[in-house]
Amino acid sequence: MLDAEEPDPDELHPDGAYSLPDSPEPSYSSVAKHIEDTLLGLLDELALPERHRPQAESMRERLAHGLNWYELLPILDDLAVLMLAITDSGQHEFEAYLKQLNVRLEAFQGHLQVASDGHADSRSAARELDTQIREQVDGLQSSMQEAADLDSLKHVLESHLEGLLGTMDEHQQQRDQREQETAARLKGLAERVANMEQEAQGYRDHLEVQRQKALIDPLTGLPNRAAWSERLDQEVNAWHQRGNSLSLAMLDLDHFKRINDGYGHLAGDKVLKIIANVLHKRLRPSDFIARFGGEEFVLLMPDSSLTQALAAGEALRAAIEACPFHFKGEPVTITVSMGVAQCQPGERSDMALKRADAALYRAKAAGRNQVQAA
Ligand code: GH3
Ligand code: MG
Ligand code: MG
Repeated sequence: MLDAEEPDPDELHPDGAYSLPDSPEPSYSSVAKHIEDTLLGLLDELALPERHRPQAESMRERLAHGLNWYELLPILDDLAVLMLAITDSGQHEFEAYLKQLNVRLEAFQGHLQVASDGHADSRSAARELDTQIREQVDGLQSSMQEAADLDSLKHVLESHLEGLLGTMDEHQQQRDQREQETAARLKGLAERVANMEQEAQGYRDHLEVQRQKALIDPLTGLPNRAAWSERLDQEVNAWHQRGNSLSLAMLDLDHFKRINDGYGHLAGDKVLKIIANVLHKRLRPSDFIARFGGEEFVLLMPDSSLTQALAAGEALRAAIEACPFHFKGEPVTITVSMGVAQCQPGERSDMALKRADAALYRAKAAGRNQVQAA
């Protein structure tokens, strides 16, 4: 309670003169009580940090003891100091909070950097992330503007920061999942490509085998007519480029019909095989022989003039004539007729072959078992 000799409360009225009265007035104590209650109420309502509680307690005690006029100003000063301290400590708290927030925002920014680097390959995901972050930051801005005090501001910041980090985590997870899926898909693709390559190689090998088969005459094992055409083109090209000589020959077994008629087709087949083998073995490495059809063979002799080709043909003819065939215990001589032609500059290979055929015809006509030059 205020003492009786304390100043008239009227003197405290802001509009009145501030002068010390000689004697107290009766209404003074009720005003003093009101001030005391107001101050105690204010102290009760102040949310004080722990370290300011003793100060507030001593003020409370001083108020409860009874406040005289001269103590009012100091206690108001103390109260002002206390309130400033509270505001100040709030400021510190807020600063600390902002620092902490800053650290978290830096971490978030790091996250974002990593995420955005990782998302560079996935534009749509990056755009989606951008939109979501923009929305959240917009939400944060408007919520912050609406926040009335420090606590709600903190709350707003906390929840929005959690939201942002959540969005980041979600996108990170999606990205990881996408990467895993892509890696798995790539692995699957690589396996499929490897399988396909293996399959293709298998087909290539098979085709090559088939192609080679298609170029071989099954009875004699010599290149067939298709192989002949292929090789003839190659040799003619080489001859055009090198400008050297190229000769060819047509061979036809003499009276072969008689072999078939006399000893049977199987015997005829065997003769064809043996003669093919003899021709093949006696060829020079650069020469090429093919079964042209029936009991006819064709011979390609690169780097051979007509004279050289005639000599080579004569050697072959003699070798076949010398073959010791026996049928039903009897020796049988098999002979071959041959027409040889040298390819002429500017001449097509089929024309040269025609000339060789004509020479062969002449060899037949001239008594067989001989070589004729075109
Ligand atoms: P020339 O001296 O005029 O050539 O008389 P040639 O009997 O050899 O000629 P011709 O064209 O009259 O008869 C060829 C024979 O060759 C007819 C055919 O039966 C036989 N021949 C053709 N291809 C084969 C074969 O693959 N195997 C067998 N066994 N005989 C064949
Ligand atoms: Mg014939
Ligand atoms: Mg014949």
